[in-house]
Amino acid sequence: MARALLLALDYGGTKHTAALLVPGERTWLAHGRVFSSPGADATCDQAAMLDLARRLLREHPGQLTAVGVSFGGPVDATRGVVRLSHHVPGWEETPLAARLQAELGAPVAVDNDANVAALGEWTFGAGQGCTSLLYVTVSTGIGGGWVLAGRIWGGADGMAGEIGHVVVRPGGVPCVCGKNGCLEAEACGWGIAAKARAWLEGGGERLKAGNRHPEADSGKQEAGTALLALAGGRSEAVTAQMVAQAAAEGDPLAQAVLDDAAEALGAGLGGAINLMNPERVVLGGGVTKAGERWWQIVRDTARRHALPQTRVEIVPAALGDDAPLWGAAALAQAL
Ligand SMILES: [Zn+2]
Repeated sequence: MARALLLALDYGGTKHTAALLVPGERTWLAHGRVFSSPGADATCDQAAMLDLARRLLREHPGQLTAVGVSFGGPVDATRGVVRLSHHVPGWEETPLAARLQAELGAPVAVDNDANVAALGEWTFGAGQGCTSLLYVTVSTGIGGGWVLAGRIWGGADGMAGEIGHVVVRPGGVPCVCGKNGCLEAEACGWGIAAKARAWLEGGGERLKAGNRHPEADSGKQEAGTALLALAGGRSEAVTAQMVAQAAAEGDPLAQAVLDDAAEALGAGLGGAINLMNPERVVLGGGVTKAGERWWQIVRDTARRHALPQTRVEIVPAALGDDAPLWGAAALAQAL
């Protein structure tokens, strides 16, 4: 009898990944990636992913038993329908699960990438062994997902875990969603970069009350000097990564901006902890590489905001960029 195979698919904004797993194993049997061509639409992306999946299945024969899919955008997981993509046109109301099932001949489960990544960390990564988990990715944006009693909790509309658009500072930094002071605007990569640029360009007073003032923390270095040097003297070129590096080098402005973002995240997590009392919070995404000081402030602030009877176990993600792909395998395994 042919061996059983699970297929995991991760549709990202610019790259698509597919992998094959033998159920019960913890290393991929096969793994492949294709990059979206510029100007690609949903039809191109679906064809590219299907070609990739078929190639893997041809090269590694077996009996495909289930397919799990992570999609980078809002999904109606109950119906297996992609609602839209924020990056690629043409995905509106795509019945992705039904299409893949017809093409590949196996049952398919689809969910959005943050929910699927949460399941990935719970099954294979930093969330193993706990019964309730909040996963939050802090990178260019902020997304999140819940795993409760071993299953993704999507909420009534599949929107549970969208902690990025919880307001942590009313009247704060404008967010892409139209509100002000969302966690995403205050703490994600672009939020950190925008805040640093505003300070460098002398617009610091535009930052709202409650934020730190770099000069107050000034040590030996002049605020902003190291950061501006990293950006080649051009404030508009500043990125969150540069802010983290300048902060590590002791630049008081970069440190203040990064501390401020960490405090906002800690406040948001404290609220989530009070609301759901998760056993563990797992943080992934590029901003979590910002250093030990950032982690300490996130944990301390969450502890201050959470009720004393709640546990505040906040740990780094273990699967990195592969969390959605591993979560897709876990989705398939549960079918
Ligand atoms: Zn928002």
